[in-house]
Amino acid sequence: MMTTTTTLSFDITPQKVTRQCRFCGSNLRRTFVDLGMSPLCETYPSADDLNRGEMYYPLHVYVCEKCWLVQLEEYESPENIFSEYAYFSSYSDSWLKHAARYCDKMTNRFRLTDQSLVVEVASNDGYLLQYFVQRGMSVLGIEPAANVAMVAIEKGVPTLVRFFGTLLAKELAADNRRADLVLGNNVLAHVPDVNDFVEGLKILLKPEGVLTLEFPHLLKLIEFNEFDTIYHEHFSYFSLLSTVKIMQAHGLRVFDVEELMSHGGSLRVYACRAESKTHALEQNVQRVLADERKANLDRMDGYANFARKVQETKLALVEFLLAVKRAGESVAGYGAPGKSATLLHYCGIGNDLIEYTVDRNPFKQGRFLPGSRIPIHHPDRIRETKPDYVVILPWNLKDEIIDQLHFIREWGGRFVVPIPRVEIC
Ligand SMILES: [Zn+2]
Repeated sequence: MMTTTTTLSFDITPQKVTRQCRFCGSNLRRTFVDLGMSPLCETYPSADDLNRGEMYYPLHVYVCEKCWLVQLEEYESPENIFSEYAYFSSYSDSWLKHAARYCDKMTNRFRLTDQSLVVEVASNDGYLLQYFVQRGMSVLGIEPAANVAMVAIEKGVPTLVRFFGTLLAKELAADNRRADLVLGNNVLAHVPDVNDFVEGLKILLKPEGVLTLEFPHLLKLIEFNEFDTIYHEHFSYFSLLSTVKIMQAHGLRVFDVEELMSHGGSLRVYACRAESKTHALEQNVQRVLADERKANLDRMDGYANFARKVQETKLALVEFLLAVKRAGESVAGYGAPGKSATLLHYCGIGNDLIEYTVDRNPFKQGRFLPGSRIPIHHPDRIRETKPDYVVILPWNLKDEIIDQLHFIREWGGRFVVPIPRVEIC
């Protein structure tokens, strides 16, 4: 190796490190929100891990001024994040109902038959494809987390333990396994190389096939202050404006879109190959694009005030918890979703302010929330300890949770919903 003399240049500052948009390659210069340093949200430390440190990464979100893709830099390789993923879709009743309705709707609208092939990318534990199996269709799940994929295979949903991209899509196409329906729910945001992923989706589609993608809608994230849905596993945050650009760049045409309630407001985008004549453009597309332009998402104005709203939420939540603590009342959490790590960590809340949380997922019970180290127990704990307040961490499921936990009213317990603004009910 050659020895060189290093000259320190005072021009080099962290701000001058070039970051490039993962879709269009433009330099990223504008901050959307900076949530500081945070641990990976799906690594739940066990009791044995408590004497060890955790890795923290910056949670700094940028907006691309050319294509309006809102994005984090990639700090951790997907292999590290997803190889033992703790999220089992089937633990949420409302998500299962959502999956069953999706199956009915797609089968009817696109006249799927027992000759059809349905492929889901990031198929999790087979929560959705199981409904297509029940209708006698051929299905294929693609799921990189081996422990989750095993659950799917055991319930009769054929699943490949692989990451998806052009490489796998070409293998499947060569094997004559192009699909009539390709779907990806809450996966697009997790993809570091969005161009390779979307190109792969197109390769996997039959000429008249349909692609549906669901992802949290950036318009709602901004409107409802859903900053806790920002975490390292979510590399990108999509508007329809940016999605249409990405699809177009890969020879896909968005022909319809639905606005869904899931995950605090999601989009279900329908796309087909650009040359397909089967699928007419629906008015919904222009309507949602118009809403986004009205919210200034096609200029910097739409992104400028978000950081201030986020800070106000932190102040309100911490003020509330401090007042409750001073009054000698007790607070527990409900749920241990990924987003709770961002919320609690950004607000600096540990088990001094929220004693414990509970979760129905046995994989999480006995473990701790990343960063804050708040212990996660079985839901029965709430009945045993009778807390004065229960903070609903998965606020997107608040109606379902308030219903399940109505018994806390017996001892005068109340619910705290942190987002969009701190609300006691
Ligand atoms: Zn861009």
